[in-house]
Amino acid sequence: MATAGLALNDGKTLPQLGFGLWQVPEDQTARVVREGLAAGYRLIDGAAIYGNEAGLGEGLRSSPVARDEVFVTTKVWNDRQGTASTRKAVEESLARIGLPSVDLMLIHWPCPERGMFLETWKTLIALREEGKVASIGVSNFRVADLEVIIGETGVVPVLNQIELHPRLQQAELRAFHAAQGIVTQSWTPLGQGRCFEAAPVRAVAARAGKSPAQVILRWHLQLGCSVIPRSTRAAGLAENLDIFDFSLTEAEMAAMSTLEAGERTGPDPAEFN
Ligand code: NAD
Repeated sequence: MATAGLALNDGKTLPQLGFGLWQVPEDQTARVVREGLAAGYRLIDGAAIYGNEAGLGEGLRSSPVARDEVFVTTKVWNDRQGTASTRKAVEESLARIGLPSVDLMLIHWPCPERGMFLETWKTLIALREEGKVASIGVSNFRVADLEVIIGETGVVPVLNQIELHPRLQQAELRAFHAAQGIVTQSWTPLGQGRCFEAAPVRAVAARAGKSPAQVILRWHLQLGCSVIPRSTRAAGLAENLDIFDFSLTEAEMAAMSTLEAGERTGPDPAEFN
């Protein structure tokens, strides 16, 4: 089953639902990629720091799904920011994955203390012009960081991948993204299961005959976000894809919004360097 697509501001299309490879052991990654593609996913979220780009590439090559049907994202890690090192990091990612280019390259974190994200962004712009990457975006950027790169280069990232789940709903960033034509992509979308027992989630799950995880993933789609849950099990991958036959009502969406708690599971981008 193919998933719906979101239009990117550079004319490309992003499958809205994908799967992530954080903490997937390198020796299991090719299998997970093959199983994900067989289940119907067409978006894979990788990163150099996950240590499994080679497995990502192996999974792609050993799957019957054609390369041009799959959207592959990877990311430049923090200690590779800067012109020369970002160029080298991108070359190394492409070599590990075994592709001449990827669909989307992200700056993994802004790392404000390093003071290099603007230079890194300019390097990604150049790499896009050279055809090494099809689209370029960012991750964990705050409004102020986005304003710097957009103001200085005029190039708007196609997306910003940020921590987003029912206990951290990111209303301010989502509104800024919407105004700028930036897709919001949710990482740790299930919020480490902290909301699986919450009443608004349970209520939809009972009404629609869905699991709490499916309800939360559906909520992301209805917010207009792209979402990249992780599961290393074929059954989990299939469960997380099976969210296109029900929807939350307006009242149910409103009930979900009451779960906001300003609670991060990961680092604060202001402090992570
Ligand atoms: P997630 O929210 O997808 O949760 C993963 C956990 O939930 C795993 O323990 C998994 O076994 C469990 N799970 C998955 N499906 C389930 C289901 N249907 N029912 C019950 N439990 C289920 O978390 P994540 O991996 O932290 O985030 C998803 C992806 O986001 C990552 O794999 C990675 O690609 C990306 N990510 C990016 C950043 C970043 O800084 N850009 C940071 C973290 C994660």
